[in-house]
Amino acid sequence: MDEIFDRIKDQLGLFNAMYDVVRIVDPIRKIAYLMDDSGLDITKSVCHGFWQKGSPCDNCISMRAIETKKATTKIEIKGDVVYLIQALPLDVAGDGYVVEILKDITSEKIFYLDSQQPNNLQDYIFKINSQLVIDPLTKIYNRRYIDERFPGDLSRIGENDRGMVMAFGDIDHFKNVNDTYGHLAGDYVLKTVASIIKDSIRETSDWTARYGGEEFLIVLNNVKEEKAMKIIESLREKIADFDFLFDNERIRVTCSFGLVAVLDNKGSFEELFKIADDNLYQAKIKGRNQSVI
Ligand code: GH3
Ligand code: MG
Ligand code: MG
Repeated sequence: MDEIFDRIKDQLGLFNAMYDVVRIVDPIRKIAYLMDDSGLDITKSVCHGFWQKGSPCDNCISMRAIETKKATTKIEIKGDVVYLIQALPLDVAGDGYVVEILKDITSEKIFYLDSQQPNNLQDYIFKINSQLVIDPLTKIYNRRYIDERFPGDLSRIGENDRGMVMAFGDIDHFKNVNDTYGHLAGDYVLKTVASIIKDSIRETSDWTARYGGEEFLIVLNNVKEEKAMKIIESLREKIADFDFLFDNERIRVTCSFGLVAVLDNKGSFEELFKIADDNLYQAKIKGRNQSVI
């Protein structure tokens, strides 16, 4: 990297004169190389550390810049300083890096708070950033987040002796819930299942996203296969035992899960997902309300 930095340092000089922070980011490995004011020296750190966050940013525009091969923009807050950030994708000998240029816009008053929005600037910025990656119905992550989060998690497998487990869950006979109790009841069941899943996994290392209609992707990082199976089985039982109450109706649902244990970072999301999806299909044909790995 030092050598890459030397190669592009001169081109970054102009940015350095115009912006408050200039850094080169490797968003898959979550590394940032921060340029000092003179533009001569760099410090290496965890990219989200700059924002005083212990886990990757929800709205990671550097990952999006790499995925879309386009410059992307967002507003972020650090303490009481508001930054406008631009992420410019950079291909360095086939590797995807991003130049992030940050401008302190705290005193520019280019945004306002309306009555529909939280009246605290921090909450407002948090809200606009999360809207892009949160599913409006279930309030868990959406499909876009999977594309932006998964490659980074995958690249870190091998940092310890544990791996990752991906689980793909699908509510059983969900069409019957809609047909019997109506779509509002169906929506309520979806929201509740999503929050049961979220409450059953660890907050910082694990995550869940709505893949599609009544389908959920769960990623458990840093976990061995047996432990992951226990977590998913206990989640499955929690859902099966839960009394979903809507409009004085008591609704029961079950869920099936297909799992795949990921031990190295050689596969792609598509290859791993296909295994989880095939296992889900097995769980369904074996009678539903079960997990297959
Ligand atoms: P299986 O056990 O094989 O998964 O059967 P299923 O009925 O769950 O599967 P199917 O794919 O036939 O039906 C899924 C249903 O999910 C159909 C669709 O109307 C419903 N659905 C998808 N998204 C939503 C949503 O946002 N709200 C509601 N209420 N229903 C939804
Ligand atoms: Mg389905
Ligand atoms: Mg289903």
